[in-house]
Formats: sequence, C-alpha cells, structure tokens
Amino acid sequence: MSSTAPFTVAIDGPAASGKGTIGRAVAEEFGFAHLDTGLLYRAVGFQVLRGQDPIQAAQTLKAEDLEAGDLRTAEVAQAASKAAAIPEVRTALLDFQRAFARRAGGAVLDGRDIGTVIVPQAEAKLYVTASAEVRARRRYTELVGRGDETTYDTVLADVLTRDARDAERATAPMKPADDAVLLDTSDLDIDTAVARALDVVRARLP
Ligand code: C5P
Repeated sequence: MSSTAPFTVAIDGPAASGKGTIGRAVAEEFGFAHLDTGLLYRAVGFQVLRGQDPIQAAQTLKAEDLEAGDLRTAEVAQAASKAAAIPEVRTALLDFQRAFARRAGGAVLDGRDIGTVIVPQAEAKLYVTASAEVRARRRYTELVGRGDETTYDTVLADVLTRDARDAERATAPMKPADDAVLLDTSDLDIDTAVARALDVVRARLP
C-alpha cells in the first residue's frame, strides 16, 4: 500500500462493546493512526461539568483539553452523551475527525457515527456490539479496577441510558452503516474479537 493513500477503518458501536480495544489492535497491526473519538466528546462533557457552555467548549477544544482531567468517569460519560446530542457540538468536531481519517498512511477511528457521517467512504467499516449486560459487566470491572466505587446495577443503568440517548438523537444517531460488518462480541474473548476484526480489515486492504 502506498504510504500516502488514505485508508480509513471506521469502528462504531455502543459503550463497552470492545471497539476501543479492537481499534487500538487494528491500528497497531497495520501501522495506522488511531483516534478514540469518544474522547473528544468526553473532553467537551468535562468542560460542561466545569460550567462551560457545550457549544463553546466544542468550538474551542484544544489538544490539552484531552488531558485536562479524568475523562473516563461515568459522570463525564453522561455529560459527553448529552453534549453529543447537540448538532453544533458535532459540527465543531467534524473537520478534525475527517482530516484525521484521511491522513496519509491510514487511520482507525472508533465512535458512534464514523461509518455513517464522518467517513461514509471508509474503506473498512465495523459495527461492534454486545448485549447490554455483558457490556455493563465489562465496564463495571474496568471502573472498579480503577478504584471507582459503583455497583453493577448502576453501571447497567448508565449504559442503557447512554445507549438510548445516543441511538435516539436526531443528529448522527448511533447505528450501523448499511455496509458495516457486524461483530457481536457478547460470547467472544477479546483475542477472538480482535482476530475477526483484523480479518475484515485485511480483506479490504489494497
Ligand atoms: O465512546 P465513549 O463511550 O467514550 O463516548 C462517550 C460519548 O460520546 C458517547 O456516549 C456518545 O454520546 C458520544 N460520542 C458520539 N459520537 C462519537 C463518539 C462518542 O456521539 N463518534
């Protein structure tokens, strides 16, 4: 593959489906750049929790905002999901994501609308999902491992609220692109899920 040709891998799906881990593994295997687009919305959500207006936060987002604090908490995730439903917030983040996706040498982006809105022409598209219970169990283990005090029921409720908000919003709702390969990771260990994703991408390389 020419090092200047764009090659975008779009990985969408709900919270804790495994798309982040899969995205990082695909990027590493093929030497592509990787962008966790959820981090952009989390950075906006973090600023909103500090009292900033969401649209202004998105329009003035800087690289250092991605390291402004702990963006991985459940509270930030909910604030991100609320901000992400605002069309002007999404518009403000569009150009950066598109430029990243079409950079020379290949890119993997994971999110909710990468294959549908950000890069509909992506060379490879995956929609990674799993049952809400399996995803809540994974996220619960992750949060407790970080020292957060929470319960499985709280995490499941958070996941379901966020899924509903992300799937039902009018602008760029979370959904599989028509040409996305569906990967249900409910009954797969991570190595198997990654191996399947790598096969999908490999089959589409020029
Ligand atoms: O992927 P992550 O769980 O970090 O995303 C946090 C929130 O950001 C999601 O619940 C969703 O509302 C929003 N998001 C989005 N579009 C993306 C990525 C994330 O709306 N491409």
